[in-house]
Amino acid sequence: PVDRSPEIQEARLKLPILAEEQVIMEAINENPIVVICGETGSGKTTQVPQFLYEAGYTSSNGIIGITEPRRVAAVSMSQRVAKEMNLSHRVVSYQIRYEGNVTDETQIKFMTDGVLLKEIQKDFLLSKYKVVIIDEAHERSMYTDILIGLLSRIVPLREKVRMPLKLIVMSATLRVEDFTENNRLFSVTPPVIQVDARQFPVTVHFNKKTPLDDYSGECFRKVCKIHRMLPSGGILVFLTGQAEVHSLCRRLRKAFPFQKNNIDDDKEESVEEIRKFKKSRKRKKTTALPQIDLDNYSVVPVDEGDEDRDAETDDDIAGSDVDLDLGDGDSEEDSSLPLYVLPLYSLLAPEKQAKVFRPPPPGTRLCVVATNVAETSLTIPGIKYVVDCGKVKKRFYDKITGVSSFRVTWISQASANQRAGRAGRTEPGHCYRLYSSAVFMDFEKFSAPEITNRPVEDLILQMKALNIEKVINFPFPTPPPAEALAAAEELLIALGALKELKEQQAAKLSCPISPLGRVMATFPVAPRYAKMLALSKQHDCLPYTITIVSAMTVRELFEEFDRPAVSEEETAKLKGKKARLLQIQKIWAGQGALQKLGDLMVMLGAVGACEYAGCTPKFCEENGLRYKAMLEVRRLRGQLTTAVNSACADTGLYVDPKMKPPTEAQATYLRQIVLAGLGDHLARRVQAEELLDEKWKNAYKTALLDDPVFIHPSSVLFKQLPEFVVYQEIVETTKLYMRGVSAVEPE
Ligand code: ADP
Ligand code: MG
Repeated sequence: PVDRSPEIQEARLKLPILAEEQVIMEAINENPIVVICGETGSGKTTQVPQFLYEAGYTSSNGIIGITEPRRVAAVSMSQRVAKEMNLSHRVVSYQIRYEGNVTDETQIKFMTDGVLLKEIQKDFLLSKYKVVIIDEAHERSMYTDILIGLLSRIVPLREKVRMPLKLIVMSATLRVEDFTENNRLFSVTPPVIQVDARQFPVTVHFNKKTPLDDYSGECFRKVCKIHRMLPSGGILVFLTGQAEVHSLCRRLRKAFPFQKNNIDDDKEESVEEIRKFKKSRKRKKTTALPQIDLDNYSVVPVDEGDEDRDAETDDDIAGSDVDLDLGDGDSEEDSSLPLYVLPLYSLLAPEKQAKVFRPPPPGTRLCVVATNVAETSLTIPGIKYVVDCGKVKKRFYDKITGVSSFRVTWISQASANQRAGRAGRTEPGHCYRLYSSAVFMDFEKFSAPEITNRPVEDLILQMKALNIEKVINFPFPTPPPAEALAAAEELLIALGALKELKEQQAAKLSCPISPLGRVMATFPVAPRYAKMLALSKQHDCLPYTITIVSAMTVRELFEEFDRPAVSEEETAKLKGKKARLLQIQKIWAGQGALQKLGDLMVMLGAVGACEYAGCTPKFCEENGLRYKAMLEVRRLRGQLTTAVNSACADTGLYVDPKMKPPTEAQATYLRQIVLAGLGDHLARRVQAEELLDEKWKNAYKTALLDDPVFIHPSSVLFKQLPEFVVYQEIVETTKLYMRGVSAVEPE
């Protein structure tokens, strides 16, 4: 029996899903697979695990697992459910890429979808689970799609061994036909339970005109108007990224000051954070070897499905201290009513995220400025007005070359309707769309599933490690494009992760995994980087490769200085900082072979110097490093060290905080290792005689692209222009730029 508090009980009774408990439980008892559809906020995520728990699904050795595409949701939902059930975090726990609080007593486990995928590699039958719930299936994250495909096969297998597993797929009320009407996936169509949404009407207001680019300013003006002119009720604003969210928060706080919340509170928290860092550092110091239990600490494929994370790191922090809105006519103070402004995005610290669920201080109006995490993963109570900029920030990949860029694009109609729906949870509401109805009519109906528009080599390697050789026959809810599959298979063969067998060449895309590939699949990084790790045992290079791979995986170690400054003083400060960073980078990249390692040597130097200094916020600030990124590099180094130790027994490897720079010989060897992983990312400087066109000046030619590519100005090799280089990635901004560049001499 669950002992809930009266307030919780009362709140639960208001949720539409509670009326369906019996119907849902009967369907689950009688069917191995059930689909539950219900409007966001109807109570799926928080209540279904409780129904199962109360129906005894965890009583005889077996637990309930729930996957979420976003880390925010996994953490916050486990906390909420623990609280509702009055159970400890030892029983209702979570596990995400880098952390978790799972124990032997855990009975309900929230996790990111990537975590469960890794668990399938260790135990294909998922024997510790009685029930697996795939949540937010409508988001169509790549790992969620794959999990559904795999589980469609695991469920019958579990039936065979007489240890039945229940699969529950939960989704907002969006296109579920890809799951239910796909008989390659489920040969028997699973029952679909619709949870009646007690949705109040939402009046949608379109702008007459669509602002060309300043949708942020338009949001500001709209919120001001709502706040000054409309009756009470919370406001939820949808923007695209973390920097935008912060900037709008500051602007609104200035316009409608609310003393306690504004400044004091944030300061308090940062003091608190620093104190915590200090404490955790003390603890770290006593353990030289990071103790990470791999069984309890699932390693996860790169880019664990959390597109927010990706979309936000590129401008992370950059804007957070700068006020971009001085001298704006609108922002004069207004004393009418304080606005209680809160930011919400994926990377926000959990304590700060939790604030949006608490009622605002009396006499204030709540205004949450969010990225699209608020679209379906989290339901904020008391929202009556939604302001929708109509945009989302996404990472785009070229299907063949893998060239990526961040782009802000229009959302789909389905997303726009989800966003509008957030206004009608507790009473009739209003949604202000900052674009015209004509523009809306041009939106795609639905956003494309993630698997159809990103490179899939990491996914294919994971699948091959599960002995799924004919990837093409896999029951994908939506298959990736054939050319992406072919490109992935080709790359994996080139890296030696797959065996290329003659007789199988006719039947393309069915090469089995090689022993090297198996080792590579155990590393939680992209296949190219996994190859580098697998090669590094010789010449004592492993610690360096691990560090370089960690740095390349975390990305964006350095602060961005090319941001708009608000004052001359700041311009000077930024300039000074940038000059200093360039100087340090040169020192880090050293001489001779070290220098040729280029940007990768800079990354190595940055991590080395930072750890040597104890990885303090102060050191990072002084040297233009992003503190958060450095902490993440530290965790990943620990994790990779453990993974390498268990893949290649007794290397005796540990993470040395006082790692010396590599020797000349090691640096030379490191360049070969890097070339082995990035062999297809080779670029050759355009020769003088080929220089027919001005646009090829200082340009490089790659195998994949017809257009010229350039070394990014932030690279230490920018001026040196070596003849051959390999690059980590090509990013398209004003030109095609190579980033993470290192010089090589191909044989
Ligand atoms: P769904 O999964 O169907 O979208 P949820 O189970 O996430 O719905 O949410 C049900 C209700 O629980 C919502 O009204 C939401 O506001 C509330 N809720 C969720 N998390 C919290 C929290 N941490 N604190 C307070 N209320 C919460
Ligand atoms: Mg949910």
